[in-house]
Amino acid sequence: MVRAREEGVPLKVLGRGANVLVSDDGFDGVVVRLDHPTFRKTTRRGTRLQAGAGVDLIPLARRCSARGLSGLECMAGIPATVGGSVRMNAGGRFGEFSDVVRRVDVMRPDGQCEFWTPDRCGFGYRHSNFGDNLVLSAEIELHEDDPVKVRRKFDEYFEMKRASQPLSEQSAGCIFKNPNGHSAGALIDQAGLKGMGCGEARVSERHANFIVARRGAKASDVLRLIDLIRERVLALFSTQLETEIDIWRPCGLQWRGA
Ligand SMILES: Cc1cc2nc3c(=O)[nH]c(=O)nc-3n(C[C@H](O)[C@H](O)[C@H](O)COP(=O)(O)OP(=O)(O)OC[C@H]3O[C@@H](n4cnc5c(N)ncnc54)[C@H](O)[C@@H]3O)c2cc1C
Repeated sequence: MVRAREEGVPLKVLGRGANVLVSDDGFDGVVVRLDHPTFRKTTRRGTRLQAGAGVDLIPLARRCSARGLSGLECMAGIPATVGGSVRMNAGGRFGEFSDVVRRVDVMRPDGQCEFWTPDRCGFGYRHSNFGDNLVLSAEIELHEDDPVKVRRKFDEYFEMKRASQPLSEQSAGCIFKNPNGHSAGALIDQAGLKGMGCGEARVSERHANFIVARRGAKASDVLRLIDLIRERVLALFSTQLETEIDIWRPCGLQWRGA
């Protein structure tokens, strides 16, 4: 990370990539994945967990639910690593990751490590203050409850997601953030855009805020569809949709010696 900064090479962190769209021309920088065992470890002390940034969120939430540790059930059906969910403040109508975060272990771009309290993290709706800082791990506070009840809640949320979202198809989740109090999916649906396609990318019939990619789909198909959706929603409802997904594009880096 420090070397990349010194050399002026852009660096991005990839979790599970569940919220990332990479341009057809790729990304000409360094991509870091925290999948060393150090970052995939979870330790428990009472109701507190220390979870590495590379830990898979759904299995973690399922294990906690089965042991009667409540607080992560709302993460059922959200494909993510702990690092990605901290950075995105992942969640939905039943709760957000920030509800359980007590402290985040961060590496700054200059290589210095520090602990951030929730205040400093600046959590909001699919928002945080991490910017170019790397999330290394998070301390999570859960509470004990009846394992049967907690597991039932986890399964219930998972079923609700399965019923309303195209979980078995290729997508990056919700493409747009919900604009002040409105549902982006409802606006796209009311605009009659369900099923509309560009190349092999389509607005999902099941959830209009999802774009599903069939085999052979290009990032450019998805990007064209995003532009079309934005134009129609703006024209019909005077509402500007903001993307929730992170779009990675080449930055025109001149490699040394190239
Ligand atoms: C089917 C489906 C359903 C979804 N449902 C939901 C939902 O209900 N609610 C919701 O909030 N999201 C949802 N998403 C989106 C996605 O699951 C979340 O945004 C999730 O938090 C992404 O985690 P990730 O590990 O895959 O991060 P990535 O997609 O890999 O990265 C997301 C962003 O976080 C950054 N990042 C990743 N790891 C780190 C790190 N260690 N340190 C610093 N920055 C980091 C990346 O650089 C990028 O900017 C859904 C996605 C899919 C495909």
